[in-house]
Amino acid sequence: MGSPILAKEETSSPPPQLVSVPKMSLLKISEQEKQSSLIPVVNHDDAPIVSSYNDRIRPLLDTVDRLRHLKIMQEGIQLPTIVVVGDQSSGKSSVLESLAGISLPRGQGICTRVPLIMRLQNHSNPSPELSLEFNGKTVPTDEKNIADAISLATEEMAGKGKGISNSPLTLVVKKNGVPDLTMVDLPGITRVPVHGQPEDIYEQISKIITEFITPEESIILNVLSAGVDFSTCESIRMSQRVDKTGQRTLAVVTKADKSPEGLLEKVTADDVNIGLGYVCVRNRIGDETYEEARAEEARLFETHPQLSKINKSIVGIPVLAERLVKIQATIIVKCLPDIVRKINDKLSANLVELNKLPKHLTSVAEAMTTFMHILGYAKESLRKILLQGEFDEYPDAKDMHGTARLAEMLNSYSDEFQPKKPSESDDVKDKFLDDEIKVLEEIRSIGLPNFLPKSAFLTLLRRKVNLISDKPVEFVEKAWSYVENVLIAVLLRHSENYPQLLSGTRRAGHNLISKKNEQSVDWVKDLVQMEKLTDYTCNPEYMASYNKLISHQTEFINAVQRYFLQPVISIEEFGRVNVEDLHKMSGVVEAFDLKMRMTAYWKIVMQRMVDNMALHLQYNIQKLVNNEMQTEIINELIGSQGNGLERMLEEPPSISEKRNKLKKSIKLLKESKDVVANIMDRVVDNFN
Ligand code: GDP
Ligand code: MG
Repeated sequence: MGSPILAKEETSSPPPQLVSVPKMSLLKISEQEKQSSLIPVVNHDDAPIVSSYNDRIRPLLDTVDRLRHLKIMQEGIQLPTIVVVGDQSSGKSSVLESLAGISLPRGQGICTRVPLIMRLQNHSNPSPELSLEFNGKTVPTDEKNIADAISLATEEMAGKGKGISNSPLTLVVKKNGVPDLTMVDLPGITRVPVHGQPEDIYEQISKIITEFITPEESIILNVLSAGVDFSTCESIRMSQRVDKTGQRTLAVVTKADKSPEGLLEKVTADDVNIGLGYVCVRNRIGDETYEEARAEEARLFETHPQLSKINKSIVGIPVLAERLVKIQATIIVKCLPDIVRKINDKLSANLVELNKLPKHLTSVAEAMTTFMHILGYAKESLRKILLQGEFDEYPDAKDMHGTARLAEMLNSYSDEFQPKKPSESDDVKDKFLDDEIKVLEEIRSIGLPNFLPKSAFLTLLRRKVNLISDKPVEFVEKAWSYVENVLIAVLLRHSENYPQLLSGTRRAGHNLISKKNEQSVDWVKDLVQMEKLTDYTCNPEYMASYNKLISHQTEFINAVQRYFLQPVISIEEFGRVNVEDLHKMSGVVEAFDLKMRMTAYWKIVMQRMVDNMALHLQYNIQKLVNNEMQTEIINELIGSQGNGLERMLEEPPSISEKRNKLKKSIKLLKESKDVVANIMDRVVDNFN
């Protein structure tokens, strides 16, 4: 057997000098070449060129085929491909069969219903090896059974009946003498659905065909039957739509034997703009063997009165094989660098995207470790921000500079309690001793008049404390609300890669701060109550301040008595005071004393409020950061049954789907990268 399209491997002793392949020029056939029948006849003794050519192109083609096998086209990376199109029964399968030297399913009933990738590989072993690859498996077959095997595989992929599918079936033909070619045979175009075919068969098929022939990397092998008007061919219309100038379209005219009349004129006129030119062939008819068919073809074009006039450079299956091999080499050499670049670009883009995806935890142990890490990091960050005043993690986020912001809050809180320094522009105070006098009147009892009752002081104190009692509560609430913001920001930052933790963490942070806030409010309320209950201080400031204030007493009394001379006097700390009405009142001396005591004591009270607050806050933030946060979050996220860790392992299906897709794609691209890794040097060495 053997199909002598190409010279056998052993033909030439030392391999002939490699012919350098002109780059895209191969794809272009000159106008002259297309039209003239004067160009020299292809001498088939030149065939070893093709053979050595094969040796060099083979690794490149293998690379492309391996990429195709990896399904790199799923990644949107197009491969150089020879796509066979043609109207139904134009002879597509017959042409492929002729090129491969095997029998394919022919005729109406078993026309191609799925894309058939045909990989022809020349091998030196005289016995052919055939196999089908589909649905991830490889099924060996042989020439006798190939038709059935394809039908079976087609059924498995596209179902029984006449339906079609766009997932391809690969037929590998290793045979001595075949050209190294990979082509895709597509379902033939039918306008009218035959019995059993779906109504929209035309739309389905043209969609598949368009998908295959649109990429610039595709070479369109347009199979035309000699008997038809080319311009009415559906396949011509389709290829013209995606390849307007025809620069990647090659026409094969079949059935030259059946319609020899006017064929020469047809291919010479080139009404349909076939950029890569025509090759006229005669395929196997009936039960002819492959060899008989080739001999018949050669005889036909040699002897037929009309067909013999056609230039030998555009007739016969061997010429077609040679043209295709060269075209294939050119397109591969042209496309490979781009493919390599696309693989690299896609790979790095996918890796970046994968890294951006939230991390996936696969075991409870891993979840535990991760969780403890998050807590550890969060604790460290909070310690820096809230206790130590180190802001290296948030250099520009002023909101996160915890110690500074808390100090600011405390300062303005303390300012609220500072008595305002009197100034000359203040209004004159009319009711300077009103409160004190009233209190003294109310608690008046039987006793010495110049004896200051303690209850008067306490009543006044309570009143004053009541007036400010909201302030410390407001302050702690404000402080904790700030700490909550910081705490949650830090926790979320450290668990941002684990969306499954986010809501629980946020809740835990919130609960914890609520608790802390409640405790602080209780404590502050106690503090206020304590101030109301007892007047005490060991602070010498009090006596010093009181003595200073009371030293104005004589001056004050004098002023009251001589109100008619000068009703307004200025007293340190209180500013300008109107004493006019005081001469009518009793107990003014006690009231003055009471006011001075209260003023001195109130400073102490206010100081205590601020100092205690500062210590309380600092102490509680420290407790929070050092252990309460950990305990609370562990309780919240892990739960008393410890099942929270399992929850950490779950993730939304959308994320895991995306991750799996990316991983698959990355694996494919990495494999593809390996496939093309070495080939580029060869492309550069051999074809430049
Ligand atoms: P496809 O539908 O395009 O795959 O066409 P086929 O390859 O199945 O061919 C359709 C019919 O045309 C078959 O009966 C073939 O035997 C016949 N045929 C194909 N090529 C030739 C040829 O060059 N000469 C003759 N006489 N018949 C051919
Ligand atoms: Mg077919």
